[in-house]
Amino acid sequence: MSVRLAHGIGDPPADRPVAAVVALGANLGSRADTLTAAVEELRLLPLTTDVRVSTPIETVAVTLAGEDVDAPRYLNAIALLRTRLAPATLLRELHRIEAEHGRVRREKWGDRTLDLDLIAYGDVRIEEEHLTVPHPRAHERDFVLAPWLQIDPDAEIPGRGRVDALLAAVRGGAS
Ligand code: ADP
Ligand code: MG
Repeated sequence: MSVRLAHGIGDPPADRPVAAVVALGANLGSRADTLTAAVEELRLLPLTTDVRVSTPIETVAVTLAGEDVDAPRYLNAIALLRTRLAPATLLRELHRIEAEHGRVRREKWGDRTLDLDLIAYGDVRIEEEHLTVPHPRAHERDFVLAPWLQIDPDAEIPGRGRVDALLAAVRGGAS
């Protein structure tokens, strides 16, 4: 079966659907509308089904300097999907959706209309220059763990453990 993607041919699709986890974040513009539109784009991805999304939560911006209470606050959500898109192909599609929402890559962790991160891709572990899966900071981010737990109470991060335990550790460590 051939698959037409936005930017040509990607890596070969997986034989079976894989459960992937995507984190959505927006802190500029009409944040809720942007997240809704991004989820619709996820539903339109080829070889992708069963997109489920958490309720968005509002969080304080995290920059390279730490939490920034003066920066516009984020809306964050988690989407679960089943996909046969290869991980690098899925990431490229996520970047395309970001770009369609006016994302300009200026500074790492800077303000953005839309950020889409690939948090997990089944049990797969990847360490490549442009793609690390599971996402290397997911296990320490309340704004990833909390909405994820909301839609999957038994979620685990491969190599890190259960999301409920990770969230308790993050919150315990912060108090
Ligand atoms: P951040 O999300 O950390 O604020 P960016 O969205 O600007 O930063 O992404 C920086 C780079 O991180 C991207 O160019 C992308 O190739 C890389 N990257 C590595 N692993 C992942 C992942 N699992 N999900 C999203 N981007 C990733
Ligand atoms: Mg990102």
